[in-house]
Amino acid sequence: MSDYGLIINGEKVPTEDGFPVINPATEEVVGQCPFATRDQLDRAVRAASEAFIDWSRVADAERAAACGRIADALTAHAEELASLLTREQGKPLNGLGSRFELGGAAAWAGHTGTLALPDVVIQDDETARVVQTRKPVGVVGSITPWNWPLLIAVWHIVPAIRTGNTVVIKPSPYTPLSTLRMVEIMNEVLPPGVLNCVTGEDELGQWMTEHPYIQKIIFTGSINTGKKVMGSSAKSLKRLTLELGGNDAGIILDDVDPAAVAPGIIAGAFLNNGQTCAALKRLYVHDSIYDDMCAKLVEAASNVKMGNGLEEDTMQGPIQNKMQYDKVVGLFEDAVAHGGRVLCGGRIPDGPGYFMPYTLVADVSDGMRIVDEEQFGPLLPIIRYTDLDDAIRRANGLETGLGGSVWSADVERGAEIAARLECGTAWVNSHGGIAPNVPFGGVKCSGIGVEFGEEGLKEYTTIQVLNVSKAAA
Ligand code: NAD
Repeated sequence: MSDYGLIINGEKVPTEDGFPVINPATEEVVGQCPFATRDQLDRAVRAASEAFIDWSRVADAERAAACGRIADALTAHAEELASLLTREQGKPLNGLGSRFELGGAAAWAGHTGTLALPDVVIQDDETARVVQTRKPVGVVGSITPWNWPLLIAVWHIVPAIRTGNTVVIKPSPYTPLSTLRMVEIMNEVLPPGVLNCVTGEDELGQWMTEHPYIQKIIFTGSINTGKKVMGSSAKSLKRLTLELGGNDAGIILDDVDPAAVAPGIIAGAFLNNGQTCAALKRLYVHDSIYDDMCAKLVEAASNVKMGNGLEEDTMQGPIQNKMQYDKVVGLFEDAVAHGGRVLCGGRIPDGPGYFMPYTLVADVSDGMRIVDEEQFGPLLPIIRYTDLDDAIRRANGLETGLGGSVWSADVERGAEIAARLECGTAWVNSHGGIAPNVPFGGVKCSGIGVEFGEEGLKEYTTIQVLNVSKAAA
């Protein structure tokens, strides 16, 4: 038995089995998460299919209003959800942590309610009226990761139901409890069956991708899992949006003032402890300012209070789970073994919790694991370059293409170079900023499709053309 229940057809459903969710700051158990069986997944999909019949035909204004109600419910329960999120995810309550995530979730839900996909009249003359409309696809399966569990869940759920779909969401087994509670809260303002939540291990996600009555998968996670999702979704030819991993490069041009840009670079690299898909993960710095830039980055990355996120003055929490912690430490040790120079951090404190301070490693290069692999943690490699074309070639040299940035005192020059980056979002003099009205997605292996704004909304619909002949019947 678990302390929490699945949410199916508006009801909390207990399960026979549960598994422990670990607080990464203390390594204590936060709670027992329900373990859904295949039969319970079927029940959730059936509830969503039945709810789709009415929800897909509800007036558009009512679905828009439901998004507003979700935003209000998130705001009303923000403190409770933020506390649970900190306990299972590790991020601090303050700074760009749990309270920030809840604020973002409410803002995204509210904005999505204001978006619309009106009909487009293509032809209207004496012979015919031809109208392009957008219809919901059906039951949407949402699979989310552990880094921004609630924000990403809202990015999946709200545009889906805004456009008339119904949803079955499966959160990461590392951070499932806050999503279960959030879905329960959202169900207070939605008809039963419109939004359902099942929890379990990775296999449950695979069952969703194989399920014949799920019409679309929206998946956010790693590239490797994204490839598996695409493979098993092919059998039933599901619609897919894949938001996958990144290894974003930032290129620092020779004209910058290192002191002026260092805080922004550190913020872009270590947002959510570096556990952000579009964090800055490889920093290319021009040789002429390399040493000064390194010194200013160390200043900006120092004196950050690391600890249990429930303490109000904590600004950096632990890495979210042991597997990820071991990976980040392994990349760090490999870099040091291959001649990387540790500028700051790297000392791993004793005691419980998966803590690692902000760590900068200089004198590393492409071909080393710390550069070529997504670290997804508080670890940033700093790479020296002399030739700008070569730096751009190296920035574009990996299979990833989520974000990238160019930093320059001359924004025109910066924008020209940023446009040459092979990525979904190219920033100039900042990194990682997103907004609910700006499309976001990856190119190359970082994903398929976009989220946010009208372009993101379209991903939850298919086009139907209504072609009415005006010739006499
Ligand atoms: P992950 O791929 O390990 O897991 C993501 C989700 O997929 C989890 O819910 C997991 O249970 C599920 N899953 C695992 N195997 C599955 C399978 N075979 N079929 C279906 N579902 C399966 O990713 P993670 O470690 O939770 O998240 C970190 C990764 O996510 C990083 O690579 C990060 O860059 C990426 N990410 C991308 C974005 C984006 O918008 N592009 C946003 C956040 C995170």
